[in-house]
This record gives sequence, C-alpha cells and structure tokens, in this order.
Amino acid sequence: MKEIKFLDLQKINAQYADELKHVMANVIDSGWYLKGEKTATFECNLAHYIQCKHVVGVANGLDALRLIFKAYINMNVMAVGDEVIVPANTYIASVLAVTDNHLKPILVEPTIDSFNLDIDKIEQAITEKTKAILVVHLYGQVCWSEKLVSLAQKYNLKIIEDNAQAIGAEWKGVKTGNLGDAAGFSFYPTKNLGAMGDAGAVTTNDDELAEQVRVLGNYGSKTKYVNEYQGLNSRLDEIQATILDVKLKYLDAENEYRRTIAERYLAEIKNPNILLPLPVSKELTVLKNKEHVWHLFVVRCKKRDVLQNYLTEKRIETLIHYPIPPNKQLAYAEMNYLDFPITNVIHEEVLSLPISSVMTNKEVLRVIEMVNLFKSVQ
Ligand SMILES: *Cc1c(COP(=O)(O)O)cnc(C)c1O
Repeated sequence: MKEIKFLDLQKINAQYADELKHVMANVIDSGWYLKGEKTATFECNLAHYIQCKHVVGVANGLDALRLIFKAYINMNVMAVGDEVIVPANTYIASVLAVTDNHLKPILVEPTIDSFNLDIDKIEQAITEKTKAILVVHLYGQVCWSEKLVSLAQKYNLKIIEDNAQAIGAEWKGVKTGNLGDAAGFSFYPTKNLGAMGDAGAVTTNDDELAEQVRVLGNYGSKTKYVNEYQGLNSRLDEIQATILDVKLKYLDAENEYRRTIAERYLAEIKNPNILLPLPVSKELTVLKNKEHVWHLFVVRCKKRDVLQNYLTEKRIETLIHYPIPPNKQLAYAEMNYLDFPITNVIHEEVLSLPISSVMTNKEVLRVIEMVNLFKSVQ
C-alpha cells in the first residue's frame, strides 16, 4: 500500500507548476533579484488580502518576529530587559525572537482544549516590566478575545501576533495578522502559504513600525551606504515573492479544503483512546468556522508513541508538534526549572494526523479507518 504522506509538498506545488515556472523564468530573465517589483506587488496583494496598511517582506518567519521587537526597541516602546508574555507550548521560534532582542519571555500556560494561550492566566503574569503579549495562533486556530484586547489596553501592552501557522484565519471578520499591533508571517514551504525556500513578512497598520522594520531588515539603511541603525539583512527575494503571489490566489480554496478534511476527521474518528481537537467556536460548523485554517490536525492520546508506531506500520505518516517545550530545551537552560503541567501533557500526548490541500478522499478515509481500529494495547 502506498504511504500516506504527512504533507505532500511535491503534489501541492505540482498543481501550479506551469504558472510557477513561468513567473520564475520572468524573474530569471529580468536580471533583478531583490527589492524589486515582484516583492512590491506581493506586499501589496498580501496587504489587500489581510486588509492591513503595511506588509514588509522579510527573509523568514523568525526574522519577521525578531524585526518587530527590534523596531519597537528602536522606537523606545520597549527596552532591553522588558518582559513579553509568550505561550509556553509554542514553537521555539516565538521565544527566540524575544530573547534575541534581550527581552525576557514570560511563559504562560495554554488551555488544554484550544492549545492556545490561556487568556485568563495572562493578568497574573503581568509586571511593571511587561511590554507586550506575543499571541501565537497555534496549529492554525485564532488566539484572540475581547478580554485580551482590554488587558492590553489596561496595562498599555502591545499585542504581537505570531501568524506563522494561521494565514487566512479570521476572528469576527478580521484576518489574523490584522488583529494586533503587528504580526509575523512565515512562508516556510510547509506552511499554509509556502514558498520554495525561506520567506516571511511583517504586517501592521503602524506607519512608523513598518518603516522601522523595513529599514532594520535592510542593514539599518534608508539610503544606500548611509546607515542609521545597526540592522540585519533580512529581505524577501523576487523569486520567492513571485511564487507567493501565485500561491496566494489559491490560499482560500486550499484552506477550505483543509476544513473539509477536518470536518470528516471530527465527525468520523471515533475511538475512546483518542481525543479530538475542540474548535473554540462552537456555534459554527467546522466548514463555516473561519477561526481555524487547520494548519495541523492535532489529536491527543495517552499512548501517543504507541499510536504513532501503529500508524507508521499502517503506512500513515504523522508528526509531533512539538516533542519538547521551549522551557525544557538545552538552549534555554535558565528556564529548565520551570514546570508547566498543561504544556507537559500537550507535549506528551499530541500527534498530528496528515492534513493538506492535496489529500484524496481515499487517503482521508484510510486515516479515519486506521485510527478507529487503533487499540491502546497494540
Ligand atoms: C514556522 C514558525 C515560525 C518560524 O518561521 P520560519 O519561517 O521557519 O522562520 C515561527 N513561529 C511559529 C509558530 C511557526 O510555526
């Protein structure tokens, strides 16, 4: 039996191969590879899609977040040593963006049902040094509420979105990336909008922040060879921009298709050993619920490793997002003493099932059947 891949990137990009090869050839022939019209066009089209004022293309998702904090420090909104609230179970890149700027990440637990930051636990983590909340729309689900906004207002905090996993998601008609003060996007090849290499973007409605991010990502220079700040080199290139511009047109359709798979998994996976993800928005059907773009379909199982081995034997590829939380990594030895019970459970029990815009009905059915046949003692 043919293996069901976790994510068949080759198949995803093959759908658009003719169009992609054509636009890439145009860039090759143009002789212009950075800071050109393809990047400007993509930034403009993404701004229109997100409905925000500014998009600044950067080299990757980590840089997008790093540059937002760096810009706020340059603007004296934050200073070295200030604190930023970050969900404890996020991918390490969110935390790296904070510490790279010599800001202090204050990790806060998620809720077990949403896997997203527990907004009720933010206030107790706020001190005089807190300057921002970095929300992560993890696995593709929006992390947002009125309470979050009023907390930020009450304590004068910036809300920064890590939108690496949720492009296209919406909260009450507003797209992620346009909810907070600024957002970082990743176009890593496996993301819902994936480039063919590294790429990222910052979105914001703040004119000064956008300008700062653009300048800081270009050596801290507005005029060539005149450097106002100690910047970075982090730019979106013309090839990636033109690829992303093609794929942006198909993003909504791809996200819709992911929802149809999620709907089937949620309706048809019936196994007492497996806990299904619970979408926060309960009034809406899975198909109508724009708060989730199902970047990942994450189930929980007490015998997670047994389940994963079983599915591997059945030739179904799965992944774990993520096996080790940031505070337990060697890279953050100073945080190793911290203990987050909910985060620990998540890292011990989660397993991501295959979901993508190119899975066939047959493949979806086979995943459902095999998961339903799983017994905790295999
Ligand atoms: C992918 C990802 C990033 C980093 O993006 P890169 O483009 O790989 O640098 C940041 N945060 C989250 C939550 C991610 O999933």
